[in-house]
Amino acid sequence: MRIVAVQERPVPIASQITNAYIDFAQMNASVVAIETDVIRDGRPLTGYGFNSNGRYAQSGLLRERFIPRLLAAQPDELLEDRGDNFDPERVWSVLMRNEKPGGHGERSVAVGVLDMAIWDLVAKLAEQPLYRLLAERFNEGAGDETVAVYAAGGYYLPGKDEKALVEELKGYLDLGYTATKIKIGAAPLAEDLRRIEAALDLLDGDGSRLAVDANGRFDLDAAIGCGDAITPYRLRWYEEPGDPLDYALNAALANSYELPLATGENLFSMQDSRNLVRFGGMRPDRDVLQMDPSLSYGLTEYLRTLAVIEEQGWSRRSVVPHGGHQFGLSIAAGLGLGGNESYPGVFQPFGGFADELDVHDGRVGLPDVPGIGFEANSDLIAVMHAT
Ligand code: MG
Repeated sequence: MRIVAVQERPVPIASQITNAYIDFAQMNASVVAIETDVIRDGRPLTGYGFNSNGRYAQSGLLRERFIPRLLAAQPDELLEDRGDNFDPERVWSVLMRNEKPGGHGERSVAVGVLDMAIWDLVAKLAEQPLYRLLAERFNEGAGDETVAVYAAGGYYLPGKDEKALVEELKGYLDLGYTATKIKIGAAPLAEDLRRIEAALDLLDGDGSRLAVDANGRFDLDAAIGCGDAITPYRLRWYEEPGDPLDYALNAALANSYELPLATGENLFSMQDSRNLVRFGGMRPDRDVLQMDPSLSYGLTEYLRTLAVIEEQGWSRRSVVPHGGHQFGLSIAAGLGLGGNESYPGVFQPFGGFADELDVHDGRVGLPDVPGIGFEANSDLIAVMHAT
């Protein structure tokens, strides 16, 4: 068995939304297809991957460095000893050949795309949904059949007022979500507080159903000031108040803000995540870790990340991956994480789940198809087949 071709294509996921830090007018993502010489149903068995959202396509790194490295490898460098499936650890080692430690940059995104496609292939070759394969390999068979998801939205748009925000959130409740998240930090605090109160009115005043996300916008004073202002709402969590790599800021904020904090979507390696739990003041009894496996060197690295945070006293149930994609959903179900983000309104078709599976009471199931489940999402698989 061998890889016969690897294709990469940048695909637009642009929209007019903004958060506290960026707009998404130029946003795109890399889609990759890894084709093997195995024939199933008359077609070459192919694994697919994409790089979540928020970090742009990685065409240069993929085409110049990582795809040539993969194609140059001998089959036995990529396969399990039995030779009948890929070994993601071995593939990862081939991809990271001649890469120095540290300074991860966005190579973690490029490697993550290929790693996703390899795991899709591994599960397809095993003729299993990825989440069941992961449960067997890494969770003593005890995966979850449904995953808690929350609707991430509440972006800023020109002219969008509180009424429009509430309409948007109402749409998520109508889809079966029970918890939502809105952006803060791009408007003056008084305006954000009005937005939060409007959202809470819709949610029966229940702060446990609403999270807020500042996307790393605040300095320490602003983070503490906002934290003080939102404390009475007792929100689900207060996400990325400060710069994702400023562990001292995070630790100082955790001393001031007693309710749950969430961060991690912009930490792209096991080492960065380990530093967060070592030095960032995060509290295993209440806080939430949000690393995105697609952006951070793939599931192969995610397993290492989970191992080191568990060593630091954390439960997997405190991990809720960023990205709202099926890869994160499969990992959350298989490994027994605390849930998964969901983007019912944006980043389509990458931010969706299987066509046939609706959200009920804030939980969603996974399709019974081999691999990550892309074939059960018609809009997404159409993009992948075109790659
Ligand atoms: Mg976020």
